[in-house]
Formats: sequence, C-alpha cells, structure tokens
Amino acid sequence: MSTLTDRFKHISSQISEAIAKARRAADSVTLVAVSKTHPPAALREALEAGVTTFGENRVQEARAKIPLISDRARWHFIGHLQRNKVRQALPLFDLLHGVDSLEIARDIQRVAGELGLSAHVLLEVNVAQESTKFGFRPKQLYSQLEELMRLDRLHIDGLMAIPPPAREPEDSRGYFRTLRELRDHLRKESGLSLPHLSMGMSNDFCVAIEEGATLVRVGSALFGARTGNAWSPSESDGLDE
Ligand SMILES: *Cc1c(COP(=O)(O)O)cnc(C)c1O
Repeated sequence: MSTLTDRFKHISSQISEAIAKARRAADSVTLVAVSKTHPPAALREALEAGVTTFGENRVQEARAKIPLISDRARWHFIGHLQRNKVRQALPLFDLLHGVDSLEIARDIQRVAGELGLSAHVLLEVNVAQESTKFGFRPKQLYSQLEELMRLDRLHIDGLMAIPPPAREPEDSRGYFRTLRELRDHLRKESGLSLPHLSMGMSNDFCVAIEEGATLVRVGSALFGARTGNAWSPSESDGLDE
C-alpha cells in the first residue's frame, strides 16, 4: 500500500516532468494540497512529506484545523466563499482562489477595510459557461474588471477555473487554454500582471501545467479518496495526539 509520502513524491515528479515538457521554470508551479475533509493527522503527515500549502473549501473546517497544524503551513481558500464568512476567512488565508462575483469582491473590500487587511485573490472564471456553476463569464470579466481593480483592498493575482468533470485529462486542455488566453488578454487590457493560474486537479494537473498552471489543486491523488464530509474537532482525531 502506498503511503502519503510515496504519493507526494510521485506527484512531485509528475509536476517536474510536466514543467520540463512545457519548458517552464522549475519553481513555477506550486502544489496546493487539497486537504478538505481530512483530519489534522493527515495534514501533519503531508507537511512532513514536503507539502507547503493546503487548500480548504469550508471556512468552519479550516478555522478548526489551522490552529492544530504547524504555522509553517500556508492556507488557500479554494471554495465558493459565502458572504457571511468573509470576516472569518480573511485572517486565515493567504489566497482566496474562488472570488466569483462582483458582490463578493465588494464584500471582501469592505470587510478587509474594517479589519485593516488586504486580500490576495484569484477571479474564478466559468470557462465552460455552465449555468449551474459559480464564476465570472469571460464577458463579465471584461466589463467588470475596471470596477474590480478599483477595490484597493484586493490584490488580483490571477484567475482560477474548475472545468466540467473530464473522463480523460486531455478533455480539460481546451478549458485550461481558454483560461490562459483570457488571462493574457486581460493582462494586456488592464496592465495587471496576473501571475497566477489556478487550474488542474488530481486527474488533469499535468495537462494544466502544460497549459500554464502555476497552482494545481490536488486532493485525492495525495490524500486518497474523500469519504466523509467536513472534518470537525468533535472527531477526536488530531486533538488527542
Ligand atoms: C476538492 C477540490 C479539488 C481537489 O479535487 P481532487 O480531484 O480530489 O484532486 C480541487 N479544486 C477544488 C476547487 C476542489 O473543491
């Protein structure tokens, strides 16, 4: 049976290969270990193996876990941020991947101002224009970017996408390319440098890296399949170690 350390090494070498294949700089991709639902013990093991950055998608769950993990760990919020969770989220996370509407961006601006903080964010793009998905439509981004840029508590570091589930990694390539091209256009239009593209998950992160991903969000390939719902401290794991 493979251990988490084995899986981390394997993923790291796949990342390195994809970087080499794309002739990109060796340090141009960060693995965001998607630790949602997993108990603190698994996160500690990941940190020992070499993970530096965790991705969580629920503010409550992250808030319970973060104090139990070494403060060497970096935390990214990768989910849909609810308006009533902004105040709790801002002090916890170094990067918010899923800023998916002008409304939530305005909330972040207001709350960050009240807390005396600023927020690094990625704008989530609905690349497949799915009616059920969160995220800016590409057209909306063009029309709303100017207003987003006026929100001076937000550092817009780039774009993020969650394409439709793919059977084959290659099925995602077109969406990844779309996101990169959109970034390139917006960069020209706005003068923002937009250095980050958060795209690619367990099944397709290599293709995402070939298309320019700088942040890959990998959960099950590292931690194993998710069985439970959110981890909560009432499950004794992690507290009694
Ligand atoms: C859960 C999740 C992931 C990780 O998915 P895996 O397929 O387990 O790698 C990545 N991104 C987001 C936004 C997620 O919610």
